[in-house]
Amino acid sequence: MKAKAPSAENFLRSNGLRKTPVRVGVIELLQTATAPLSVPEMLGHLKNVDTVTVYRTLNTFVKKKLVHRVRGEDRSWLYAIGDTHDQPRHMHPHFVCDDCGKVECLDSASIPGGFIGSLNVERGYQVAYPEVVLHGKCPKCHD
Ligand SMILES: [Zn+2]
Ligand SMILES: [Zn+2]
Repeated sequence: MKAKAPSAENFLRSNGLRKTPVRVGVIELLQTATAPLSVPEMLGHLKNVDTVTVYRTLNTFVKKKLVHRVRGEDRSWLYAIGDTHDQPRHMHPHFVCDDCGKVECLDSASIPGGFIGSLNVERGYQVAYPEVVLHGKCPKCHD
């Protein structure tokens, strides 16, 4: 169970961001979302915003590690609120259902600490972090 999220305004302030209507709107949407959201989904809920501003806002959040993103089934980015407190990166795998296309954050699963090491990546590549996407059937589509 997730702790109650701080208000969008406090969230922005505590992360050193000026509050703008778009930032507040995006954070509020992501705080209440039960699954990662695409930009078109967000645009459907936000009033008087343009696509470019929403992308720019999301890029700012991703850079500040307030939000993480995952590729959806159709290769578009989906966004979810990150964990600002425990880890700098939100190290959970994501799940893509190949039947219904739903993408979920598997918050209770974790990527093992030695995961990158176990891949035996060639020398010369500096790996920053892994992104794990699991494919299969979600509980709703499973039998
Ligand atoms: Zn499914
Ligand atoms: Zn996630």
